[in-house]
Amino acid sequence: MPKLLLEHATVVTLNEEDEILPDASLAIDDGTLVGVGHIPEDFMADERYDLAGLVVMPGLYNAHTHAAMTFARGYAEDLPLDRWFNERIWRLESALSADMVYWGTLLAIIEMIRGGVVGFADHYFYMHEVAKAVQESGMRANLAWAVFGSEAQEVGISIPETISFVKQYDGAASGRLRALFGPHSPYQCPDTFLARTAAVAVRENIGIHIHAAETAEQVQTSLDTYDMSPIEFLAHRGLFETHTLVAHAIHANDVDLAILANKRVNVVVCPSTHMKYGMGVARVPEMVASGINVALGTDGAGSNTALNMWREMRLAVLMQRQAHGDAELLPGCAPLHMAGPHGAQALNFHSSGALIPDNTADLIVVDTSAPHFAPTHNLAASLVWCTEPADVRDVMVAGTWLMRDRNLLTVDESRVVKGFTAALESMLAAQQSQFRHYDD
Ligand SMILES: [Zn+2]
Repeated sequence: MPKLLLEHATVVTLNEEDEILPDASLAIDDGTLVGVGHIPEDFMADERYDLAGLVVMPGLYNAHTHAAMTFARGYAEDLPLDRWFNERIWRLESALSADMVYWGTLLAIIEMIRGGVVGFADHYFYMHEVAKAVQESGMRANLAWAVFGSEAQEVGISIPETISFVKQYDGAASGRLRALFGPHSPYQCPDTFLARTAAVAVRENIGIHIHAAETAEQVQTSLDTYDMSPIEFLAHRGLFETHTLVAHAIHANDVDLAILANKRVNVVVCPSTHMKYGMGVARVPEMVASGINVALGTDGAGSNTALNMWREMRLAVLMQRQAHGDAELLPGCAPLHMAGPHGAQALNFHSSGALIPDNTADLIVVDTSAPHFAPTHNLAASLVWCTEPADVRDVMVAGTWLMRDRNLLTVDESRVVKGFTAALESMLAAQQSQFRHYDD
């Protein structure tokens, strides 16, 4: 790989001191940052990039999504969560094809790269197709094959099949892919299935990505059934004995927070989805105070409608300040950490995240010259509150440019739109013929 030197940029490191380096250089060798601010004397660049007037910062991580669900964007609006799923989404998903997952994921990837996302934690079906899309795109990803653990699941796979999927993809694409178990949730999966999943995950050192404690009703059902909250139940069944991502955890009590902190569980909050479905306010300030790694996700486009991490960042802050009547919550660079380095940690990419020597070169270049940034009294505030996806100019993963001057270099946008449109037409036709009889 060529040695790269990025020069004259304003570098937002998101290191432990939140250092911002004016007119700074970054040296990249074999995909790794070998100099940040201070460039080694013997570093001989093959390619130099003058980034004067631009901001370089860590790439963003979408730590919980169902990328292929771009096909359901706007398909099931203005419904409570149970009706959203039962009346609209599962009916559409009954006609889901591998083809739809491939093209739907690529469409999501275009939106994410354009918005400065370098990696995402995906939880869905036909995950071989997602792996293919991610490999082509050059992004990083966590791949969890969603399973319900019941016979009724048509597109699911068994535990042995999941193990072979994980073995095939964990660490693939030069380490850009991580594969893990994706049991849907404690309310969808049978008790014995979850216990078995945990046992295998611990034995085989496989991570877990799961939904939990999304609604107050789920918590009540869990208490009625097990005398345990969903978080207590998952801990009791052993699901936190490995690297775990828990999506949502909105209705976590104090005991739950202690468990999550103690077991080093990564919590992913998805503010748009939480608010759109009136699910409640995740206890992010308490989670952060108890040492839990809190990352941000968009959830799927079927619920969120967009995959815009800048919006999630802002909503994460706004939701907490409004709920607590406290304008000092999640100040300064805190939201940038949640969307960047905390996401990298949640996805188990430990050398990604902050722009510090020896980390991989996973970074974005933000153009802050648009009028909606002026003036920039406080760069962290401008990045958090003013940035739109279109302000992201360049995206790099492991030293490879995925986007330069807003041109995608790894994905052919018009080919994806064509493929996506054709797959969607086939899926809608298949779904209609499937349900014609049912609806009569
Ligand atoms: Zn989800």
